[in-house]
Amino acid sequence: MNLKTLLPGSTSPTGQQITLGVMGGGQLGRMFVQAAQAMGYFTAVLDPDPASPAGLISHYHILTAYDDEQGLAQLMQRCEAITTEFENVPAPALVTLGAHRPVAPSAACVAVAQDRIKEKAHFVQCAPVSGVFPAPYAAITTDALLAAVPADLLPGILKTARLGYDGKGQVRVSTREELAAAWDRLDKVPCVLEKLLPLRGECSVIVARGADGQAVTFPVQKNTHRDGILALTEVHEGALDAALAQRAQASAVAIAHHLHYVGVLCIEYFVVDGANGQPDLVVNEMAPRPHNSGHYTQDACDLSQFEAQVRALAGLPLPVPRQHSAAIMVNLLGDLWFEPNAARPKPSAIPVSPPWAQVLALPGTHLHLYGKLSARAGRKMGHLNITAPSVAQVRETTAQVLALLGLPALDA
Ligand code: ADP
Ligand code: MG
Repeated sequence: MNLKTLLPGSTSPTGQQITLGVMGGGQLGRMFVQAAQAMGYFTAVLDPDPASPAGLISHYHILTAYDDEQGLAQLMQRCEAITTEFENVPAPALVTLGAHRPVAPSAACVAVAQDRIKEKAHFVQCAPVSGVFPAPYAAITTDALLAAVPADLLPGILKTARLGYDGKGQVRVSTREELAAAWDRLDKVPCVLEKLLPLRGECSVIVARGADGQAVTFPVQKNTHRDGILALTEVHEGALDAALAQRAQASAVAIAHHLHYVGVLCIEYFVVDGANGQPDLVVNEMAPRPHNSGHYTQDACDLSQFEAQVRALAGLPLPVPRQHSAAIMVNLLGDLWFEPNAARPKPSAIPVSPPWAQVLALPGTHLHLYGKLSARAGRKMGHLNITAPSVAQVRETTAQVLALLGLPALDA
């Protein structure tokens, strides 16, 4: 892609302030906008929701559907370059934008990440270089392929090829009968069946790659999911085996290079038992954008994943990021906005404000709320980055935060 450098604070040939655009107005778009504005760029967001977290704070908010021709034309007219904040943006919209403006990541890269069948095929292609394979799997798109599924993929997880997130669009199956019934219930949309692996843990890597082909990675995140949603990310010495983390970074760079990816990419891995009792990696999936697990970079690194997204889009340099603090990120789901009720394990309907003043009295707590106007159970409302000069301290502060918020404690 021909991405010329867009210097912050300058004006375009038509005399307008250099403006960076983003498809999607969710929290990731909001944090992109914040990073772009901090550097002096104007921003434009395309999102149909008038109260979208990014739209609320952007210079321009184009309130149309993602595939609306007029909306896309307005976005191109406003912006010198355009990125995306969610992978389900319609690929044809990115193709249209890409014909007239630099778009990073490209429509082709987003198309791979949108579809688990293409994504896994890409991981398999990369494996000789990346050194990491996906879990054994089979694509299921026809009854014949369903019937031909090898027995050793069971028990497995049936996942829709498209539109799954936070564990949605997934069914665990143990037998062929369960598999057939599950695929039927999913209306026989294209799926992959993945072998269910015994996980030691999960980790992810944020890689940022410029149009010049230079790629940098951030320190590897150890992730804990609860009910299919990311709950905690820990990034500090000892959180992960150092050799394993290095392999994950090298693999992520190989995958980004192979795609000629421009922008910020997150790749998720499973940690499994390898030979000689050593931990091994399996590549799970990727997101063509900054990722929830990379939020710690905002307060613990000298470059955040969102500033990296801005830099990659604007054709600015991407020096190797340095982590300066031990970090733990706690996701803040809507459940925290409801009074816990001892009689019922689920939160009640009585809205409360979480105890932010007490949380913020602890050293190294950084609150990020997304400006969502209403809380719902499971809805991502914000996150809290906790930083400290030592592992012991970040864990101690996190333990206090989790107790204040009524969340499960850290693993020993
Ligand atoms: P999503 O798009 O919902 O994040 P994932 O493929 O990442 O979908 O699956 C969600 C979670 O389910 C993973 O983070 C992991 O905890 C679990 N999981 C997914 N696939 C497997 C598998 N093959 N074996 C074991 N656990 C899995
Ligand atoms: Mg996932």
